[in-house]
Amino acid sequence: MKKALSDLNLEKLKELCVTLGEKPFRATQLYEGINSGKELTEMTNLPSTFVEKLSNEYTAQGVSILKTLVSSDGTRKYLFLLNDGNIIEGVLMKYKYGNTICVSTQVGCRMNCAFCASGLDGLVRNLTSGEILSEVLTVNKSLGGTLKKREITNIVLMGSGEPFDNYDNVAEFLRLVNNEKGLNISYRNISLSTCGLLTGVDRLIEDKLFVTLTFSLHAPTDEIRNDIMPINKAFNTKMVIEAAKKYFNATGRRIVFEYSLIQGVNDSEPCAKRLAELVKGFPAHINLIALNYVKERSLTGTSAEKVKKFQGYLEKLGVSCTIRRTMGEDISGACGQLRRKYIGK
Ligand code: SF4
Repeated sequence: MKKALSDLNLEKLKELCVTLGEKPFRATQLYEGINSGKELTEMTNLPSTFVEKLSNEYTAQGVSILKTLVSSDGTRKYLFLLNDGNIIEGVLMKYKYGNTICVSTQVGCRMNCAFCASGLDGLVRNLTSGEILSEVLTVNKSLGGTLKKREITNIVLMGSGEPFDNYDNVAEFLRLVNNEKGLNISYRNISLSTCGLLTGVDRLIEDKLFVTLTFSLHAPTDEIRNDIMPINKAFNTKMVIEAAKKYFNATGRRIVFEYSLIQGVNDSEPCAKRLAELVKGFPAHINLIALNYVKERSLTGTSAEKVKKFQGYLEKLGVSCTIRRTMGEDISGACGQLRRKYIGK
């Protein structure tokens, strides 16, 4: 399998150039080409002999866009092809303030959350830092963006995979995408969503990678959470809340909790009361969203009317919360669905 040059930072590209008998300034040209989302053959400022030499072992990007689906609400869903033939997906959401891309961090996932199609086949493999970066770079380029004039303004690590289950590559991706000579996307504009593999929280703090941290909570009690999120048996709700407080104390960043409302499972008034008790006493925000129907799991989202009611219960108890729109439902918007459809599952 060919390796991706997008895995390498500028220093490593310089070393590679020297090894291949090229002048170090070629590394800067290469770096700019890679971070503009180009493939090697599109880097016309490089000597063709150098491009040929590199092409024997490398591609510039770790992914290429295989397919793009555009939803009636403007959301775009991408299928990306990896160099080894695996397929992952990503989503682009357009907001008034800019474009947010949701990237995958693993092929498949081993967390097996009950409401998610990505976990159905287990973990296939981790993505490298350059593969995750190339999801951003290739979409930025496809939207007409360049290194200097970005079309992508925000990133969420909320696609297939549990980011903390692939910590080292995810951490390196954050450094690459934040690099001032690269896309230079600020950590403030990056959200990392974890299902609650809490070992990663301490590591983010140690590494000073102060992104916005989002916890997929989805249930206010261990009883319900054990049923829909197996990770809860290792790290229960109380531990999630403690880790969230620790991250807040270390970073001063408000914590976001994702709460997908599933009909008849976690959408009652007592659930709202219990949820309010859990997040009491520190700056937390809850994103409510009706679950996108996942046919593979036969779970149905709560109706819009009941979601509004649930929000009302929380607001009455002083909890900051918003209802997020379900986006791209007509194009297999839920995580992992499009990939499964494409690979015939
Ligand atoms: S919701 Fe996230 S952590 Fe859970 S199975 Fe899906 S991809 Fe994995």
